[in-house]
Amino acid sequence: LLHCWVVAMAEAEYLKYKDPKQPLNTRIKDLVDRMTLEEKIGQMVQIDRTVASADVMNKYYIGSVLSGGGSVPKPKASAKDWVDMVNEFQKGSLSTRLGIPMIYAIDAVHGHNNVYNATIFPHNVGLGATRDPQLVKKIGDATALEVRATGIPYAFAPCIAVCRDPRWGRCYESYSEDHKVVQAMTEIIPGLQGDLPPNSQKGVPFVAGNKKVAACAKHYVGDGGTTRGINENNTVATRHELLSIHMPAYYNSIIKGVSTIMVSYSSWNGEKMHANRDLITGFLKNTLRFRGFVISDWQGIDRITSPAHANYTYSIETGVNAGIDMIMIPYNYTEFIDGLTLLVKNNVIPISRIDDAVKRILRVKFVMGLFENPLADYSLADQLGSQEHRELAREAVRKSLVLLKNGENADKPLLPLPKKASKILVAGSHADNLGYQCGGWTIEWQGLSGNNVTSGTTILSAIKNTVDRDTEIVYQENPSLDYVKSNDFSYAIVVVGETPYAETNGDSLNLTISGKGAETINNVCGGVKCVVVLITGRPVVMLPYVDIIEGLVAAWLPGSEGYGVTDVLFGDYGFSGKLPRTWFKTVDQLPMNVGDSHYDPLFPFGFGLTTKGLY
Ligand code: BGC
Repeated sequence: LLHCWVVAMAEAEYLKYKDPKQPLNTRIKDLVDRMTLEEKIGQMVQIDRTVASADVMNKYYIGSVLSGGGSVPKPKASAKDWVDMVNEFQKGSLSTRLGIPMIYAIDAVHGHNNVYNATIFPHNVGLGATRDPQLVKKIGDATALEVRATGIPYAFAPCIAVCRDPRWGRCYESYSEDHKVVQAMTEIIPGLQGDLPPNSQKGVPFVAGNKKVAACAKHYVGDGGTTRGINENNTVATRHELLSIHMPAYYNSIIKGVSTIMVSYSSWNGEKMHANRDLITGFLKNTLRFRGFVISDWQGIDRITSPAHANYTYSIETGVNAGIDMIMIPYNYTEFIDGLTLLVKNNVIPISRIDDAVKRILRVKFVMGLFENPLADYSLADQLGSQEHRELAREAVRKSLVLLKNGENADKPLLPLPKKASKILVAGSHADNLGYQCGGWTIEWQGLSGNNVTSGTTILSAIKNTVDRDTEIVYQENPSLDYVKSNDFSYAIVVVGETPYAETNGDSLNLTISGKGAETINNVCGGVKCVVVLITGRPVVMLPYVDIIEGLVAAWLPGSEGYGVTDVLFGDYGFSGKLPRTWFKTVDQLPMNVGDSHYDPLFPFGFGLTTKGLY
């Protein structure tokens, strides 16, 4: 009996940090004061899902888990499968001495792209073309609900890179080559996290409860400025260029209460960003007063030394002392924990630096209510791929389309296309391929091919369901010129582009249309009036074909809602998108951005014809 009483008393002990009525800073201080070095270092560690378990979370006091490259617990995992997995890890964390909840993170970069049946929104380059920050905010809101539906409170988004060279494999993750467009699109942050309450203190992170997620502005800073667009490479720029081109969207993100910022793999003038104390601690934390936490990229500190991981102790020292708070390890966490512990014990890393990191991580966890609501339930499951979100994605597709050419002159426009025609030819490798439409970072890191990838509508099926009932649709992926000429087509729609890629795999020096796309354009447009719809993450070489094409549409990587394309092609809505990037003539012009002295584009930044219809 006495034993029971003692247990009950201990449980009833008042812990300030657990009291949501206490001021934020009081809670943080109370908790940090109770923590051992081991518990503090654990908070700073983010491990991959595949090495996590309730036991590991408990034993090492791990602060965070991620789905690296969006990895899934099992193929076609349901919302319930996800919630169960996340809760399982969380229970391990909650059973530690202080019961500090972990935070689970995932790359939800165009909707909850890792999850089967989720709504897949256009990639950022397409959203840049909409020039519609309020729309992008709504996408943030929808994405947060879908991510929370799977029990996840933290998204590695938005990417606010200012891509200055389309040869970069991540160019589609960038809203624009122009920092002003990127700045405007940071409106996705209040969409993901909720609107900042009035009079909020600048730089303090904010997440409005458990239907919102913590956001992550990435990759700090200059990721989009590397030489020839080589991924993770060196950005050569003066401090003025860095601050005026690549930095401004970080100001906006911080003002909007972004909770976390991810450091870039790239270097600035030869120095790895993961080692850059001046820009992380000096500029971001001290000058801009960012109060959320700074997270490394995947094995980002390992690459401080060359070859990667060559001198790991040095990497830990340099990265943590530069000001990185949470380290995405993601596998060899015991090596990191042992290394960091020793560095602190030997006073190479001051305990004040550890405390700063831990306070920032706890601040985010407290602010978002993770201590009060650490476990997810299934109540949001029907948000995943909901009709409402699909309608929103369809609207985003409509507004993202950029009409680059429409007939030989304004008197004879080809678009909008008539729904009533005797026979229409649809051609091209991308007309009936949902995986291609979605691009990289969809279900798998590198994206997928085919129509079983997830649920959605291809452009071909959207065309079939949009034209008049007696209009005949013929689909031929790559017809010959003779075939095209010998048939009596009213007109043709050719859908070609790039096949999916992510990160370094997408780096390209030639930027050509993939597969037989060029041949398809030549054969079809050589034989009949045609409109070419490009499914690409960036401008591609079009100069050789542009004269034989009557209608040209940049559709970017539109995602799961193919009807967004047909809504506009057939005139229910008008074209309104504007180029978020300069469309070059030849790759040897690159890099070429608006304002450059050698500016001689095929289509300039901001270009986009309009047609009548809604909008
Ligand atoms: C990418 C990040 C991403 C991280 C986690 C890295 O390879 O650079 O953008 O958030 O992986 O998947």
